[in-house]
Amino acid sequence: MMPWLERPWQQLNTSFKAGRFHHAQLLAGLQGVGKLALAQRLADAILCENSLELLACGQCKSCALIAAQTHPDKLLVSSEGATIGVDEIRAIADFIYHSAQQGGNKVVIVHQAHKMTHSAANALLKTLEEPNAKRFLILTCDDVAQLPATIVSRCAKSNIALQSEQQVRAWLTQQLGDYGELPWINLFISQPLKIKHWFETGQVEQINQLFHSIETLNHTTDLSQCVELLVKSPELVNEMGRFVQWRINQALYNGADFSKMTVTQQALADFIKDHQQIPGLNLHLALLKLFTALKQALQ
Ligand SMILES: [Zn+2]
Repeated sequence: MMPWLERPWQQLNTSFKAGRFHHAQLLAGLQGVGKLALAQRLADAILCENSLELLACGQCKSCALIAAQTHPDKLLVSSEGATIGVDEIRAIADFIYHSAQQGGNKVVIVHQAHKMTHSAANALLKTLEEPNAKRFLILTCDDVAQLPATIVSRCAKSNIALQSEQQVRAWLTQQLGDYGELPWINLFISQPLKIKHWFETGQVEQINQLFHSIETLNHTTDLSQCVELLVKSPELVNEMGRFVQWRINQALYNGADFSKMTVTQQALADFIKDHQQIPGLNLHLALLKLFTALKQALQ
């Protein structure tokens, strides 16, 4: 287990052993901090036939089914896309209603619950309002502010965060070997799984390229490659936003014109808002607009 998950796990384990473990758990923290790994660990322990603690034994029939990823009483709801819809959430009510095939507990994990649409959240609320014995819901959430307060208030909430940078760096070295000194790594140090993912998928090259383009940006820089990269890999748009923010801060620190940088700051805020809220946004144009604003400010 990632060392920073030990503390929240201990707290949950204490309530589990005392028989006070809440049927609805909310794990809140930044994307890439390990919430899903912890949720899986909790779910496996809840399903284990021998768990005196919040820890799966690895020996029983339930644990074997979990290892084979075929446990019929465990459901993971998640979405690669931007939203989790009402149908996926309604399936939870059906799942919970039917008796457990292994005769024990049933567990549902809703990963990145902040992605639920308004009607999906309402459907989940109904399920939360009618707790059933031996039924458990574990939600993970990158941003609790995006969850309806009515849902948050019905869950036991654990904040998942890192304890120290040193701990993360040691873990990254253990996972990745010598990963070298990357100039952007500090910007994502609180999201170590993200960094690991980039290394494992080879996306680290794109991140390097993106960072380098924005770091060295001035009014003559040709950013067409950067735009092309982002249009091809739109999942990196948020990272680009972080890099632009970092660049604005650097420029201000180095004495750039404050009012010019304020305009860029606004352009970045507008871009982020449009990117989140306008489906089918012309990303190419939106990026050009943002980069033009940045280039003008750095003139
Ligand atoms: Zn077991």
